[in-house]
Amino acid sequence: MDLRKTLDSGRVLLLDGAMGTELEKVHLRGDCFANIARQVDVAKIHLHSLAAGSEAITTNTFPLNALTPEAVRQQVDLDRANRLGVAIARTVAGDRGFVLGGMGPTGRVFGMDPAMTEANVHAAFLAQARSLTAEGVDALIIETMTSLEEALLALRACKEAKPELPVLVSMSYYTPDKGIRTLMGETAVECAQALQEKGASAVGTNCSAFTMPQMADAVGAMRRFTNIPTIAQPNAGQPHGEESTYDMTPAVFADGVGECIKRGATIVGGCCGAGPEHIRAVATKLRSGREVR
Ligand SMILES: [Zn+2]
Repeated sequence: MDLRKTLDSGRVLLLDGAMGTELEKVHLRGDCFANIARQVDVAKIHLHSLAAGSEAITTNTFPLNALTPEAVRQQVDLDRANRLGVAIARTVAGDRGFVLGGMGPTGRVFGMDPAMTEANVHAAFLAQARSLTAEGVDALIIETMTSLEEALLALRACKEAKPELPVLVSMSYYTPDKGIRTLMGETAVECAQALQEKGASAVGTNCSAFTMPQMADAVGAMRRFTNIPTIAQPNAGQPHGEESTYDMTPAVFADGVGECIKRGATIVGGCCGAGPEHIRAVATKLRSGREVR
């Protein structure tokens, strides 16, 4: 299977739900050692996603760059944890699904943290991209980015690690009331265009503080101003209180994802709160043909 061919075909590709909120269900929160110490738990989450209909699973490697506060605090062997993340996903997927190497943000803010120099951020992402690609992924996916500057550094690092590999880049937007913008103030269209120009294979949004119609609007806007596939991975609702519970039903979630597909998304999945049951609802909808464009 060649992921690039699937991306080029224009058909809808179903990704998985969120790893973070599924790990919390087995009492693993922000744990950088899960790929080392809790491999069965991680493998089960991948397995459930594939059984629900995911065609691609994302490795449990989101916080595993040298700058995230979790990685710094836990002093994890990042190369080993990243490689094991790929190995677990690959073992579970076999030839039934693509494996996407997952990369998240540093969790730090430019201008507010002395560690956030261009060289540091680039080096952190390059090291992670090298570990992931060395172990063998079908693509890299940079997710939940809240700063275009940081997303571009991550993209550059991915292109350097393995130039021929597709790189998917997904941003999070938090200010729908001011037009869809990142925390740093960049619009979805600005981000999508800049990332396309620098070689992203797909651009989109995940984990944003939107309602489903707002996410569909963001997809529509990005779709109009780019010519690469558009990603939509909404949360299954919004976090409530400190415990971050999500209560969107699979049916409502699938309808929302369907709306994103109508507006042009061809790479869809779920973020926080979206588990296998949400993916299954989307898969059923896709199979029914109603959302196949
Ligand atoms: Zn999320």
